Amino acid sequence: MPDGLPVPPGSGWPGDPATPATPVAADAAQVRTLAAEAVQAGRLDELTARQSVCRACPRLVEWREQVAAVKRASSRNQQYWGRPVPGWGDDDARVLIVGLAPAAHGGNRTGRIFTGDRSGDVLFASLYRCGLAALPTSTAAGDGQRLIGARMVAAVRCAPPANKPSVTERDTCAPWLEAEFALVARSARVIVCLGGFAWQAAWPMLRAAGFAVPRPRPKFGHGSEVTLAAPPGLGGQVLLLGCYHPSQQNTFTGRVTPAMLDEVFSRARRAAA
Ligand code: SF4
Repeated sequence: MPDGLPVPPGSGWPGDPATPATPVAADAAQVRTLAAEAVQAGRLDELTARQSVCRACPRLVEWREQVAAVKRASSRNQQYWGRPVPGWGDDDARVLIVGLAPAAHGGNRTGRIFTGDRSGDVLFASLYRCGLAALPTSTAAGDGQRLIGARMVAAVRCAPPANKPSVTERDTCAPWLEAEFALVARSARVIVCLGGFAWQAAWPMLRAAGFAVPRPRPKFGHGSEVTLAAPPGLGGQVLLLGCYHPSQQNTFTGRVTPAMLDEVFSRARRAAA
């Protein structure tokens, strides 16, 4: 595998959902079309494959590939993924965990969301304690980690500079999120939003799946809860839970602690049971 380049689809990276034949979205319209096709076919595997090769946001494509080529000193001997990080976890998840975007040297390096960075260390330790992950650590794709009845997605699937996607980039990526939710909505009973960005991204996702979204939209906070009646055909209801993002800044300053994460994920697991 050539070093310093994004990983070619289908070249043997653990968990790579794509092949050289996977269609590539080059702009926002193609994202919408390719996502809708995968939903129509009922193919979550094809959806994640298409997500993982997307090139619709020029600034993010350039950034993720530049980071993958330059690397950071402590990872200079490693191949970086350098592609969008697709949704990952249980295909029939009862708990959907929504994050912001992959970290430049975390998901953008390992190819798996919240894997290989400090945020992921804190998050997976909590998921393990709460029975939603098989291992307390998540270090690399192919490390044996598994989500249990849960699935993780990012609202924006490419690592953005300074962790700040633009509004256009958020909107361009939204059809991937909406399509993924459409394909797991039958089983999903709880949505945990990590941070305000994910909370905001969840409303259009829910609306696209036919949920009646309250107005004004409920405010984000740690431990915020909103119960939404599911539209006909999906059955039951969905619980939306707010959780402070386990970013390095939030964990270092004590804004979010392991106990606070455990509280949210225990609640999520109980509600999804
Ligand atoms: S952020 Fe989303 S829409 Fe933009 S290039 Fe990445 S995967 Fe494609």
